Amino acid sequence: MNLPFAEPFKIKVIEPIYRSSREERESWIKEARYNLFNLRSDRVFIDLLTDSGTGAMSQYQWSEIMLGDESYAGSLSYFKLKDVINNLLGMPYFLPSHQGRAAENVLFSAMIKEGDIVPGNSHFDTTKGHIEFRRAKAVDCTIDESFNTEIYHPFKGNVSLEKLEETYKKYPTEKIPLCVLTITCNTSGGQPVSMQNIKDVSALCKKYGIPLIFDSARFAENAYFIKTRESGYENKTIKEITKEMFSYADGATMSSKKDAIVNIGGFLACRDKELFQKASTYCIMFEGFVTYGGLAGRDLGALAQGLMEGTEFDYLEARVGQVAYLGEKLKSYGVPIQQPTGGHAVFVDAKKFLPNVPKEEYQAQTLAIELYLEGGVRGVEIGTILADRDPVSRENRYPALELLRLAIPRRVYTNNHMDYIAASLANVYERRDKINKGLKIAYEAPIMRHFTVELERV
Ligand SMILES: *Cc1c(COP(=O)(O)O)cnc(C)c1O
Repeated sequence: MNLPFAEPFKIKVIEPIYRSSREERESWIKEARYNLFNLRSDRVFIDLLTDSGTGAMSQYQWSEIMLGDESYAGSLSYFKLKDVINNLLGMPYFLPSHQGRAAENVLFSAMIKEGDIVPGNSHFDTTKGHIEFRRAKAVDCTIDESFNTEIYHPFKGNVSLEKLEETYKKYPTEKIPLCVLTITCNTSGGQPVSMQNIKDVSALCKKYGIPLIFDSARFAENAYFIKTRESGYENKTIKEITKEMFSYADGATMSSKKDAIVNIGGFLACRDKELFQKASTYCIMFEGFVTYGGLAGRDLGALAQGLMEGTEFDYLEARVGQVAYLGEKLKSYGVPIQQPTGGHAVFVDAKKFLPNVPKEEYQAQTLAIELYLEGGVRGVEIGTILADRDPVSRENRYPALELLRLAIPRRVYTNNHMDYIAASLANVYERRDKINKGLKIAYEAPIMRHFTVELERV
């Protein structure tokens, strides 16, 4: 018999979690105004709000916390990280930052100006935010298959070369300062981009003289999918695949809270010295001196170590395998999910799950509340509340997909937890016919309302 995969680590420190009663949860969620962001974390049994900064560090990462060199300039922890970025990604220049969005802020300050066009696959919200804040426009060139949850495509994060070239032809080159390729593509469900597509996008960018920048928060999970799904890469290591992926890019921004398995941190990397120098000024202004960029020395060390661990095949097999395990379990109960499952999360199709709840009553949020009440599991709505209102008409924007995202933290939960989550959702699914009322908004902020929205039951 072939041996199955298993986590390449054992547990040394545990953090108790409290299993509450339904009565307790009824009262807590009401107090939280039916907004899961308002819950105290000790009122959550299994927390799938995000995989960002929620991973468990290894004993080697914790050792780096102790070894951290807190010198203002020239910290040894900085040089440790610099070596890893040079060797792993093949990028000669880098700047640390306190998060991924801070790296975006620094890099985009050096690259984007008003009226610019920034194409790519589906841009992440903070990336889009930093583009639009500069009065530039993000153009989504993702392949059409990505927007259908039911059809299988191994690389739903891919860019449509036709859509991209159309954009390159439509606007003058000087209006397109960069192309952003998000690997894996968070917005389309943690879906990967193939090496062939990376190569083709890179060639098209070169043809038009446009720099290609990776939004690389989950580059290691992307490399794992290339290894397991794309022919010619079966026998390459994750680190070799990573090096090849980045060889096609001119630069990258990184949220280390994802695939580098740290609780805080980010960076940008690039090949061009002039761009690095320009960005350095913004780094000093917004983040800190170029050898710490808003992070403590100990964070830089833990990040360097995390990049090495996060690009180990055995770890990734267990990581992505756990997400797929939850997906399969849900499918076996008939729960409609986005297929195939991505690298970091399972997305439940709330429109199909709760057809009796009108879309005006926020199907995905209603499902998120039902799941919390059922089992104390916290997911997050990726639907109408997140989509905000149209800035001109102030009408709700109804996105094509109304999803409940279950993001799995790295190295934190066991497959027993996955079984528990699946059973909780299956129980809600069983009584779905009786759920025909949703929620209405009592308070909302003018933008980014999902974080602070207050809701009431209809
Ligand atoms: C999380 C994320 C970011 C932003 O990073 P933060 O560390 O949360 O600021 C940018 N892009 C992608 C694809 C992400 O997943």
